[in-house]
Amino acid sequence: MLDRSEEQHEVIRAEVRRLCDAYGNEYWRSLEPSTYPEEFVRELTTHGWLSALIPEEYGGGGLSLGGASVILEEIAASGGNPSACHAQMYVMGTLLRHGSEAQKQRYLPDVANGNMRLQAFGVTEPAAGSNTTAVQTRADRDGDTYRVNGQKVWTSRAEHSDLMVLLARTAPAGSGNDRLQGLSVFLIEMRNADGTLIDGLTINPISTMMNHSTTEVFFDDVVIPADSLIGVEGDGFRHILGGMNAERILIAAECIGDGRFFIERASAYARERVVFDRPIGQNQGVQFPLAKAHIQIEAANLMRWKAADLYDMGQPHGVEANMAKLLASEASWAAGNAAVDTHGGYGFATEYDIERKLRETRLYQVAPINNNLILAFVGQKCLNLPKSY
Ligand SMILES: Cc1cc2nc3c(=O)[nH]c(=O)nc-3n(C[C@H](O)[C@H](O)[C@H](O)COP(=O)(O)OP(=O)(O)OC[C@H]3O[C@@H](n4cnc5c(N)ncnc54)[C@H](O)[C@@H]3O)c2cc1C
Repeated sequence: MLDRSEEQHEVIRAEVRRLCDAYGNEYWRSLEPSTYPEEFVRELTTHGWLSALIPEEYGGGGLSLGGASVILEEIAASGGNPSACHAQMYVMGTLLRHGSEAQKQRYLPDVANGNMRLQAFGVTEPAAGSNTTAVQTRADRDGDTYRVNGQKVWTSRAEHSDLMVLLARTAPAGSGNDRLQGLSVFLIEMRNADGTLIDGLTINPISTMMNHSTTEVFFDDVVIPADSLIGVEGDGFRHILGGMNAERILIAAECIGDGRFFIERASAYARERVVFDRPIGQNQGVQFPLAKAHIQIEAANLMRWKAADLYDMGQPHGVEANMAKLLASEASWAAGNAAVDTHGGYGFATEYDIERKLRETRLYQVAPINNNLILAFVGQKCLNLPKSY
């Protein structure tokens, strides 16, 4: 099914919401600070939602990016945390667009039916930071294999994944536009048949302020088959760019969902909570920040759909994807802040879930790309200002 209409999106919305309602906010709270939502992810997989972007011929749902974004938005709006599983959607584009037919046949049906989890995206490195072209992890060709050496950081869900999409250097960096060359992208089988990690691969969890299951990953002479390479050697950075734009659109949708959660909860509370003999929502000091955040969310949502529609039509969408991510991450933060103020002291109480969701949504101003870099990109691409990064 290729969903295009709002009616089809409403069907997705309702079905995902029904599944999420079975995992109420108590469930998400009980996982704090750092337990992975194993049952929830399994159920999403069983119902086919995590294979939304895998074409039907490989056993997936064959949805558009817009349709997939509705799934993540609804999880967030229900009070859940889609970060436990969203990578399976955003790395898919790299494999679909640049993977060989043999790679797709080999992996996609198993990912679609849940036999394999494709949840790890190894790009960021400690020394490179936001400058992705400076990554130093090397993959050196050795006969029918590559030998991988180096370190990734913030590789989320690696402990809960069987496959990793990895960006590594196969040739020295050039200069100018050529600095995009020399990086290659691989699809790595991370585990042996018994589930243990392949030789040379070490994963260490990183403790964070929200439940995110993120890690650092060390490659110590990890040997992978040469046919793990996706697409053309040296073109890896360009291959993952499309996937990164998809990720930004999906994250924007998650932030829209977070924002809806905050505004719905806070508005309900503001209608019911009576202080000085009137509902607190009657005070403009309470009402206006909520109204303003609602407006910000609605505006960000328009940009999210513009970006998703352009992506699904195969048209240039990089600027819109970036703008959607920035607007949505700022809007959800404004909504979360207003929700804390509205709840007064209870905004800080774990049982209200506002503080948990506020910690979760804060991430998206920083990752998967920080908002400063989006401003730098828009300044250069849209305003013809000198490149600053
Ligand atoms: C919880 C979490 C999960 C993540 N998951 C993944 C994942 O699964 N896979 C993955 O590959 N990565 C992941 N990341 C990494 C994430 O994409 C990076 O943290 C992010 O891109 C920023 O990089 P950095 O942390 O190195 O910050 P830095 O690049 O060190 O930036 C630090 C600060 O400097 C500013 N700055 C830097 N350069 C400029 C400039 N030229 N102009 C203006 N400001 C600038 C930034 O805006 C930022 O405020 C994750 C990160 C987190 C925190």
